[in-house]
Amino acid sequence: MKLQEMLRDYIRTSKNNNGLIEKIYVCKISWDSPHTANLVWELYKNFSEPIDKISFERELEKILDNKRYFETCDSCGIKKASGNMNGKVCHSCMEKTGIVF
Ligand SMILES: [Zn+2]
Repeated sequence: MKLQEMLRDYIRTSKNNNGLIEKIYVCKISWDSPHTANLVWELYKNFSEPIDKISFERELEKILDNKRYFETCDSCGIKKASGNMNGKVCHSCMEKTGIVF
């Protein structure tokens, strides 16, 4: 998954009146049943001092490296949201091997 896509789909921010970032939320996927994904926006950080774009990008790198949120699939080598992984292999790769969800 490309960084831009991940940002669009899984990361949200809330900004103050000056356009500085105060809070970062990360989307967590949980499965109620094999076909019902539940999206939960988890507060990743609430900054006491709002941060600028450079600090934000640094935080993004930390989030992307955080296995709580993202993991790299052993099979296709693509970084995916942890909720789309089944152990070390992503759901897309599992489907390709014939496992139906
Ligand atoms: Zn994969």
